[in-house]
Amino acid sequence: MGDRKVIVFDTTLRDGEQTPGVNFDKDSKYRIAKQLVSLGVDVIEAGFPAASNGNFEAVKHIAENIDDVVVAGLSRCVKSDIDKTYEALKNAKKSRIHLFIATSDIHLKYKLKISRDEALKMAVDSVKYASGKFDEIQFSAEDASRTDWDFLVKIFNEVVDAGAKIINIPDTVGYAVPKEFEKLVEYVKKHIHDKDNVTISVHCHNDLGMAVVNSLSALENGADQVEVTVCGIGERAGNASLEEVIMAINTRKDYFNLLHSINTREIFSTCKLVSELSGIDLQPNKAIVGANAFRHTAGIHQHGVINNKATYEIMRPEDIGITTDHISMGKLSGRNAFELKLKNMGYELSRDEMNLAFKKFKDVADNKKIVNDDEIKAIVDDVILNSKSIKEGEIWV
Ligand SMILES: [Zn+2]
Repeated sequence: MGDRKVIVFDTTLRDGEQTPGVNFDKDSKYRIAKQLVSLGVDVIEAGFPAASNGNFEAVKHIAENIDDVVVAGLSRCVKSDIDKTYEALKNAKKSRIHLFIATSDIHLKYKLKISRDEALKMAVDSVKYASGKFDEIQFSAEDASRTDWDFLVKIFNEVVDAGAKIINIPDTVGYAVPKEFEKLVEYVKKHIHDKDNVTISVHCHNDLGMAVVNSLSALENGADQVEVTVCGIGERAGNASLEEVIMAINTRKDYFNLLHSINTREIFSTCKLVSELSGIDLQPNKAIVGANAFRHTAGIHQHGVINNKATYEIMRPEDIGITTDHISMGKLSGRNAFELKLKNMGYELSRDEMNLAFKKFKDVADNKKIVNDDEIKAIVDDVILNSKSIKEGEIWV
């Protein structure tokens, strides 16, 4: 069997916008959507059209102006939501309605205050009502990871029979653990009707820091689609991060044997754009795209990386679109790292100048954890200036 292709469903503009304090305006959403196309995602969930006028307008604008991708809109299982979503998506080149209803007993009892049978009927009626209005129908069983498995399979099969071709298993509250979640995916896959024509999707939250690992476990065990956000932004602790899922698949291709359509060289600029427009700074130790992700501080690590990057780097920064060397200089840095840093900064020094510059650097570094490029420049300029006046003095003498 050949490698399977993972469908990347990006929900930065919908779940990502549910990050506390984040509100993308129409222009920001459109800019991000265009960048997501360059990045190569398969589906963009542009928003929740029935939630507000602003949301509706933003989804409509994306649907009407972005061609190379499926545009999805979230919708509750009620007619008025479906109608709104239809109005927003009707001019999309390829539209997908993303219907959802909660299926766990705790959500049914305390949130929706309806029975399992009532939820089942609302789901099926909604899929039937949406049929013919959209190119694709996706159905999500909200809080699936805390739903009775037999009821979950029952509702999935009824919506599949009614016309939904994508079924999503959300770990809405970030409660699942990898082994258990992969078993759930296997169970659904085993019992679903029309297996060959139904796409199984997962949507994981990061409340326990397991969104990425749960997503990867699901993909490994038969899920076809993964729902992600750029930088992992989203409700509460966020969603599975697009860049982490993709770079895990790439870096461990030997293990996962999965394909995808993401152009990884667009990852860094996409994360920068989302960070800028959301106002959320990337934590320095964020995997893949944090400022420290490709920095090496210990002298022994720096020496290794200079001789062969593979000693301490499992990914190449240029593969995600980072071009600078990101060698962080500090008191643990050795002579090799210092010389390379200067070379990267465009300096050519004599042996004596290098000796002096390295000594001065060590003096400065002793009092600081990190010596930045500007400080290194000041040290080197000082050394060059001094050695020049010494030489000129010699000529004069
Ligand atoms: Zn979510």
